[in-house]
Amino acid sequence: MASIHPNITRKIPNKPSAATATTATTGYHCALCGKTYKLKDNYNKHYVSCAFFHKKCMETNDEFNDSLESIPTQHELYQFIKQIAIKCQRLEEEVATLKQHLNMKQRQNIMDILNHDPKNSMRTQFDIWCAQIQVSREHLDAVFDGSLMCGIKVAMETHISSRDTLPMRAFKEKNTLYIYDSDRQWKAATNACFEKLIASLEKQFLQVFLEWQKENQEQISKSEKLKDDEIHYMMKICGYKYTGDKHAILKKWIMETIAE
Ligand SMILES: [Zn+2]
Repeated sequence: MASIHPNITRKIPNKPSAATATTATTGYHCALCGKTYKLKDNYNKHYVSCAFFHKKCMETNDEFNDSLESIPTQHELYQFIKQIAIKCQRLEEEVATLKQHLNMKQRQNIMDILNHDPKNSMRTQFDIWCAQIQVSREHLDAVFDGSLMCGIKVAMETHISSRDTLPMRAFKEKNTLYIYDSDRQWKAATNACFEKLIASLEKQFLQVFLEWQKENQEQISKSEKLKDDEIHYMMKICGYKYTGDKHAILKKWIMETIAE
């Protein structure tokens, strides 16, 4: 009597054999799915996962009797997982490359749009804009209360508020900061773009601190607490405990602040 479920009775060889793989001259042909491989090694790798899925597919097609589903052997599972891991790694690498290409393309498209914005004539060039930031006594308080980075952010905050002239633009969910460079073109900012700005602000903070120190010299000399404070402030101004990549921190903060 013919079987009701003919597929289930079909045997799948555990190993790729001469029956499924043909000779090297015609390539190695998978009898289960029809793919052909030039190299025997690639055919063998393919066969492990193909046989696994083929077997699973035939067994689960049987809606009348789930108990017929067999459990793969440890060796079969090991081979299968090994192949899946290799495939997974290859796919991850491919996705990373594709993402990189896509980001570059998106960045180029955004730069093209920005460079054709008629409002660009109102923008101040990045270098000039940076040179306009002046550190005040109020900004120094932010360093005393927090850190040198806090002071730098506060000093930049007021300057950032006039958006029409701002030589920087960032967009939500896009990890790029664009600056309006000295050649009047928008460019993707690197951390190095902020080296000059940070150095200039650090220098200004030191100058303002020395002024503060000079003005308060008499009071400081009379109070132990103020003497301690002075040392503490000085360490902050000199960037003590100023950990992490300050350029990257500042760039990230600017992007979050100005994101459109
Ligand atoms: Zn196959």
